[in-house]
Amino acid sequence: MILVLVETDADGATLTSREALTFARDVATRTSDAELEAIVVGPLSDDVRGAVTNELGEQGVTRIHHAEGDGLDSYAAAAWAAAIVQVAPSSGLVVASGTPRGNEIMAHVAVRMDAAMAANVVRIADAEPLTVARQVLGGSALEEMRLTGDVGVLSVAGHATEPTPAAEPTQPELVPVSVTIAERDLAGRVVRTEEADGDDTSALTSARVVVGAGRGAGSADGFGDLLELVDLLDGALGVSRVVTSLGWRPHNEQVGQTGSRIAPDVYIACGISGAIQHWAGCQSAKTIVAINTDEDAAMVTRADYAIVGDLHEIVPAVNQEIRKRIG
Ligand SMILES: Cc1cc2nc3c(=O)[nH]c(=O)nc-3n(C[C@H](O)[C@H](O)[C@H](O)COP(=O)(O)OP(=O)(O)OC[C@H]3O[C@@H](n4cnc5c(N)ncnc54)[C@H](O)[C@@H]3O)c2cc1C
Repeated sequence: MILVLVETDADGATLTSREALTFARDVATRTSDAELEAIVVGPLSDDVRGAVTNELGEQGVTRIHHAEGDGLDSYAAAAWAAAIVQVAPSSGLVVASGTPRGNEIMAHVAVRMDAAMAANVVRIADAEPLTVARQVLGGSALEEMRLTGDVGVLSVAGHATEPTPAAEPTQPELVPVSVTIAERDLAGRVVRTEEADGDDTSALTSARVVVGAGRGAGSADGFGDLLELVDLLDGALGVSRVVTSLGWRPHNEQVGQTGSRIAPDVYIACGISGAIQHWAGCQSAKTIVAINTDEDAAMVTRADYAIVGDLHEIVPAVNQEIRKRIG
């Protein structure tokens, strides 16, 4: 059996959890056609429960274990791990998305099950024995890891897989799981949450399109056209360290070694030279487009597509064309 931890938000299963499900389904078919099951932890509203059941059915999940009750009302990595271990297979895999929570919980699960764990996996290198390729050094290198033992634990790197529906959708059975949580498993738990105050990087790290801006933006007032492009593409703005150091934009928008690591479908790097510390954060983008006045800039030579010219002329022209096409 392959058991996938599914994280939820107000709309249902999160995008990265659906990616992890598709990844797990692929492993299931490539290994022994194992059953694909899921676990959701914590209280769910009726709407979210309905949405999750539909989405997981589309993914081919046969059973959804729902663990709730005392100690599971708010996030506590050890308590969530205790719930997962209760339904985890004695032979197979336990999978989560490579979010901060997913990685933290899987580490607890691996220790409790005395199992091997690989974090931030991007693909299966070999099915038998299961060997995976995973991102290391902040995504700048890949290493292969063989998961030996009856049970393996892994997390799937964000956007390494496109979530796709199963060939044969299912109507998953919803199974309540009752867990008694030990007091020690609540030693580290969320006791209060607040609305994001500007430090939130989730929009940037989950966006399918990121518009990057560097010193070439010129000043704090030079982002108008870039922000319009972000809006038109329903994306997020990511910036270089020069931009945050100069105070033009907040640090939560920084991409790179000391900022966020992103892996969008498209990264449009405008006025960014492509220093190695920036590249470390954006190299996992599926397609990189550079807009730069310098045809020898590292970002231009490494990009899939490059437009050599002034971003203050090119970006407004691109925006105008998009506006024209979307009416
Ligand atoms: C320990 C350490 C950690 C770091 N971490 C990070 C990090 O996390 N993220 C990060 O980004 N950097 C990081 N840096 C800084 C990094 O080395 C670079 O200094 C930085 O990325 C450069 O930012 P930039 O590309 O915006 O500026 P520049 O290097 O100055 O490049 C500006 C680019 O814009 C182009 N340009 C200028 N005007 C225009 C225009 N009108 N139209 C189009 N193009 C134009 C130029 O040709 C040039 O290529 C780190 C450095 C260190 C030492």
